[in-house]
Amino acid sequence: MALRTLDSLGSLQGKRVIVRCDLNVPLRDGEITDDGRVRASLPTLRALIGAGARVIVCSHLGRPDGAPDPQYSLEPVAKRLAELLESPVAFATDTVGASAQEAVSALQDGDVVVLENLRFNAGETAKDDATRRAFATELAALGDAMVSDGFGVVHRKQASVYDLAELLPSAAGLLIATELDVLDRLTENPQRPYTVVLGGSKVSDKLGVISHLLPRVDRLLIGGGMLFTFLAAQGHAVASSLLEKDQLETVRGYIADAEKRGVELVLPTDVVVASGFAADAAHEIVAADAIEESSFGASGIGLDIGPDTAVAFADAVRGSRTVFWNGPMGVFEFAAFAAGTKAVAEALTEVDGLSVVGGGDSAAAVRQLGFDDDQFGHISTGGGASLEFLEGKKLPGLEVLGWQS
Ligand code: ADP
Ligand code: MG
Repeated sequence: MALRTLDSLGSLQGKRVIVRCDLNVPLRDGEITDDGRVRASLPTLRALIGAGARVIVCSHLGRPDGAPDPQYSLEPVAKRLAELLESPVAFATDTVGASAQEAVSALQDGDVVVLENLRFNAGETAKDDATRRAFATELAALGDAMVSDGFGVVHRKQASVYDLAELLPSAAGLLIATELDVLDRLTENPQRPYTVVLGGSKVSDKLGVISHLLPRVDRLLIGGGMLFTFLAAQGHAVASSLLEKDQLETVRGYIADAEKRGVELVLPTDVVVASGFAADAAHEIVAADAIEESSFGASGIGLDIGPDTAVAFADAVRGSRTVFWNGPMGVFEFAAFAAGTKAVAEALTEVDGLSVVGGGDSAAAVRQLGFDDDQFGHISTGGGASLEFLEGKKLPGLEVLGWQS
């Protein structure tokens, strides 16, 4: 424990505080399609503004190649932040250059500036320690203290996440503190029954979580693309559905382990099979052990859990006191294949206890399907970070803030 919190930084009145946020929002044609991460950054920013700090916000956005790329500019995010804070937010057109230096020196107490995308600088993600440290040193020169609040990046040893926190007096922001509190409740003494629902595209992304959580849960529900590797491991044909052949042995091991531990492993009994991977593909409902018998034969692709499965999953979720859900149940981006995801999300909102949604696409899915954030106990802003935490891994961006797992 012993995460350094904001009060460990003392009085911040008039101090230049660099806040590492995760404002990596999805954009379409320059418009933010989900501002959840911007909203999640507000409590810390408001606290710093209230404390009279001169607030310097930095973040990455997308994957530019270590050089400026206008499609990944943080300018739309700075605009959105100003709307949400209901006060002006300055924007620097570079990260550590002349524009950033000028904008920072113009700050008054309680003012906010957003710096341009950290990843426009190759040093941010450099594997080479010296290169990374050199960029972090330029960044550090802009501030007197550093607050780390980008939970989505704490599993990365990057300049603004790790090195900067070593170079300046640093502490965790309120978002990180909240995320850790919730994730801790999922691993230490969860209220029972404890159900974990996993979906998404690839089982290989979630192996660590499955093995870390199996000994802790009462029920494990499997949907999404990974369900087909589970069905195949049980000997069923899955036609052209997503299948990771190289994971079949591992998955068989999980099935055996669940049985040995008395964990209820719930696999779909029916699935929605489509003629192809498209929004308007023809589709039908088939039994999970008869996927190749759909009218699409061997070319059928399973794109969602079926309605019977959705009901069974929803019942299991509703009857639990602790639920962690990661990964959509189907290709929710296509309306025709969003029903399973919607049913699980709906059930999560009815949990009498702690319900947590983790994963970038899962969070986007619940918002896209019309749910409000406050209908859930917690929506984690960190996909990879929350999974790595739940895998029991050491996260460099947390260790550097005093956290010991
Ligand atoms: P998260 O970001 O929440 O951790 P993932 O990245 O693992 O989730 O997976 C999200 C993706 O999984 C979604 O884009 C969704 O379309 C896809 N997916 C879900 N079910 C299937 C399926 N049956 N076949 C292919 N892709 C699927
Ligand atoms: Mg994802």
